[in-house]
Amino acid sequence: MSPPKTIFKRIIDGEIPAKIVHEDEISLAFHDVSPQAPVHILVIPKKEIRSIAELQTEDAALMGHLFAIVRKIAEEQGLTNGFRTVINTGVDGGQTVPHLHIHLMGKRALGWPPG
Ligand code: AMP
Repeated sequence: MSPPKTIFKRIIDGEIPAKIVHEDEISLAFHDVSPQAPVHILVIPKKEIRSIAELQTEDAALMGHLFAIVRKIAEEQGLTNGFRTVINTGVDGGQTVPHLHIHLMGKRALGWPPG
């Protein structure tokens, strides 16, 4: 039996709504439902990759594409003062949705190190 769809796969399939800011054949970007900064957008691959820990060599171009989309959205959102990208992986990384995603956060100064 195949595992249940993740919430992000359901967004990709149009089964639940999201505030989408970018879509192409291989990626989707939408506002985080619980924003941690004035701009908090998630950029995800449509391909079902659970996390960085499961990336394959052939996913290199896909990851490059996702970061190009991050750059484009950062520009569109006016994040000229800088921004934070985060990819949480696994339990210790604080990952809660098992579908690879890049957090893009900006429009406020962010602390470091994270908790
Ligand atoms: P992570 O903890 O790195 O796995 O991040 C998962 C993120 O997904 C969190 O920031 C959540 O607020 C966000 N999230 C969960 N469900 C939704 C949803 N339906 N639409 C948008 N963002 C979501």
